[in-house]
Amino acid sequence: MKDAIYSDLKKFFGFTEFKGLQEKVIESILSKQNTFVIMPTGGGKSLCYQLPALMQEGTAIVVSPLIALMKNQVDAIRGISNENGIAHVLNSSLNKTEVKQVKEDITNGITKLLYVAPESLTKDDYINFLNTVKVSFVAIDEAHCISEWGHDFRPEYRNLKNIIARLGDNIPVIGLTATATPKVQEDILKNLGMTDANTFKASFNRPNLYYEVRPKTSNIEGDIIRFIKQNQGKSGIIYCLSRKKVEELSQILQVNGINAIPYHAGLEPKKRAHHQDMFLMEEVDVVVATIAFGMGIDKPDVRFVIHHDIPKSLESYYQETGRAGRDGLAAEAIMYFDPADIGRVRRFFEDIEDEQRRRVEEQRFNAMASFAEAQTCRRQILLNYFSEYKRETCGNCDICLNPPTSFDGT
Ligand code: ADP
Ligand code: MG
Repeated sequence: MKDAIYSDLKKFFGFTEFKGLQEKVIESILSKQNTFVIMPTGGGKSLCYQLPALMQEGTAIVVSPLIALMKNQVDAIRGISNENGIAHVLNSSLNKTEVKQVKEDITNGITKLLYVAPESLTKDDYINFLNTVKVSFVAIDEAHCISEWGHDFRPEYRNLKNIIARLGDNIPVIGLTATATPKVQEDILKNLGMTDANTFKASFNRPNLYYEVRPKTSNIEGDIIRFIKQNQGKSGIIYCLSRKKVEELSQILQVNGINAIPYHAGLEPKKRAHHQDMFLMEEVDVVVATIAFGMGIDKPDVRFVIHHDIPKSLESYYQETGRAGRDGLAAEAIMYFDPADIGRVRRFFEDIEDEQRRRVEEQRFNAMASFAEAQTCRRQILLNYFSEYKRETCGNCDICLNPPTSFDGT
């Protein structure tokens, strides 16, 4: 089996080595076990289900929350085969003829990967059809959408267990997520009814990222300008909580001779895409953005991520800072922090009507606030939150480099 895995890795993807835990995950899937994969963004989760799908008889069903992501993956898979039908998307945008073609390709054993949105899977017509064909396994990408404790809860994900049961007997289930909090993980396993799953968790440590929290003063713009000028020519992202602040700050930077552009969901789609491309093509050094910026951005040499405002959760902080240093070289994550912002952010949550939801958001933010105020190694706190315990302090955060002196002078 080992030889086959490697030769197919080469044949389909052109890679000669697996990344991290991929090989173990693939072995687990090929031996028809329920499998749970927790890997940080960029860890290579897609290949974990794509390769075994391509290697096995039948069609693997991939549940994914975003149509754009599904389309990208289908195009990529089609690119490695001369058979267009090797991968399909099944969703409400298809017309009758297209649906017929998809069904035919599946029936004829051509389709190895079928991407579906969870809401499409509720259609009886689709379920009845899938029940008549060979399903190799069901992969649930972005599985944290199942959990109300996650940042991206999708009610339609809740029903997946029942739907999978209707597809046939003993179909292996693969859950994949980049959310490392234990609560969310527990929720996923319970909800999918796969507490017996083989679980593979990669480390979330990013040793090349330097973490620092700086006091946010009334001169924060000046401080940011100085930082950028000291890092002339490097790529960076500055996150702000509001669109208004994004616009303001990007103008201030421009006036000060910094090659910066704004990015937020209020910009018209064309302009947004253009600004994103300008950053990727290095026509600008700095993008000032709301959290709308970053999903799927894979610029390897971002050298710094600055938080103008404290994010709403440690998961967001981790994701956003994680966009720096993808190439493995040194990069900085700097957060400007004003304790008064804690109250400001908490006030946002007061508007959330659903009480449980509100409590979840508050608790998630509490962890973020503790991180900002902490006097111990930032990396330990961050990783502990993801239930990864490091005995040693990291030596690559502000606290480690400049330990606070205690009152008795030790
Ligand atoms: P995730 O879903 O975990 O965020 P992706 O599946 O999008 O990650 O993969 C991230 C990147 O890693 C992609 O560009 C992919 O081509 C690359 N990759 C995945 N597996 C390998 C491998 N074995 N060798 C080299 N590159 C890989
Ligand atoms: Mg992914």
